[in-house]
Amino acid sequence: MASKRQIFVGGVPIGGGAPVAVQTMTKTETANLAATMEQIRTVADAGADLVRVAVPREKDADALKTIVAESPIPVIADIHFNHTLALKAIDAGAHCIRLNPGNIGGREKVAEVAVKATEHSVPMRIGVNSGSLPKHLHELERTAPVEALVTAAVEFVELMEGLDFTDFKVSIKSTNVPNTIAANRLLSEKIPYPIHLGITEAGTKWSGALKSSVGLGTLLADGVGDTIRISLSTFHAEEEVKVAWEILKALQLRERGPVLIACPTCGRLQFDMDTVVAEIEQRLEAYTEPIEVAVLGCAVNGIGEASHADFGITGAKDEGLIFAHGKPLRKIPQEQLVDTLFREIDKSLGRGGKIEVDDSEAAEGAAWLQRIEEENAGDLTPEKLAAMEKAAAESGEDITAPGGGDGEPYLKPVKGTKVELGEEASPTAGRRFTRA
Ligand code: SF4
Repeated sequence: MASKRQIFVGGVPIGGGAPVAVQTMTKTETANLAATMEQIRTVADAGADLVRVAVPREKDADALKTIVAESPIPVIADIHFNHTLALKAIDAGAHCIRLNPGNIGGREKVAEVAVKATEHSVPMRIGVNSGSLPKHLHELERTAPVEALVTAAVEFVELMEGLDFTDFKVSIKSTNVPNTIAANRLLSEKIPYPIHLGITEAGTKWSGALKSSVGLGTLLADGVGDTIRISLSTFHAEEEVKVAWEILKALQLRERGPVLIACPTCGRLQFDMDTVVAEIEQRLEAYTEPIEVAVLGCAVNGIGEASHADFGITGAKDEGLIFAHGKPLRKIPQEQLVDTLFREIDKSLGRGGKIEVDDSEAAEGAAWLQRIEEENAGDLTPEKLAAMEKAAAESGEDITAPGGGDGEPYLKPVKGTKVELGEEASPTAGRRFTRA
């Protein structure tokens, strides 16, 4: 269940129906101002809404003043064990304080931070970590780890409420994906406060991104989670931001920049798709417009399922086709495909999304495409099978029973129930936002 309460970190709303905020954490020594500011600017450019910096020493708290003044996005100070650093961070202008009420030295010290945070209207993120649960929950943790995590989080919530401080979000972090999912689902039913999601120590760019996508994606699809951080073992914090955005874009919770569609390739592939897709993906990072770009490994299917894309290319042995909105634009020697694709994208964006079509070039491209389609008309490609399944589903027929024998359709329709997933039935319906 989405959080009922909303807080503001700097100007960024968290919870209460606001767009899911993307955050990351700098990996530099915070007191190294040049390095920290460079990383903050990089993550802000990549789309971070919020950035967290570690404040383990006095000199990091001292650096905060400049960091907050120069940062293009709100700054969260990450404090552990030392409540005086939290007080200094608030004085330095931090937009939010992250602390674990269980490791800051007792109720009085938490109370001192809460009083100062109230005076300065600074919210907090309070949280529990599977590795640092309070002692009295260790026994429960052995037998029921999810219950232990949620109990600790609810105890912290009650502690803060008892101190008359309610300007906070809550996080439960675990390295265990199923436990993270179960704990956050349960927590969201018990508290009205915004929830921060993350899989702690998730791993490398590859495994960490996958674990986070499974854990956070599941929760976000349920409507749980108001801000996310992807923890990756890389110095490049912007990679965390990119993964976070891909999760939000995949769930259609937010839009940012282009969406790349690429076929998985198969034995019909006729050009070096790996290299081409990688180059297109990298070049698209420079664009902020939410355009859809498709890359098809062959022209056997025509434009097929990529016909809704704003732009696309389909490759063949020596030549390829540039298309836009399902219509051929022109046939191009293969080595010029990518550059020509980006020239067309740039021209169209420069004209407010309008596409210029040269009729004779478009006709030549269409004829080329038709010839390839006709030559391969009998091929059952992945796309043709998908189209057959779609047609069968739309006609209300069940395509689960395979046909067999000569002359029989490959997929033999059997009467069944038509299943539709309408917008209202989508798990993320009503939570979709466009980034301003
Ligand atoms: S048949 Fe489909 S999957 Fe195979 S290369 Fe062509 S477009 Fe890609």
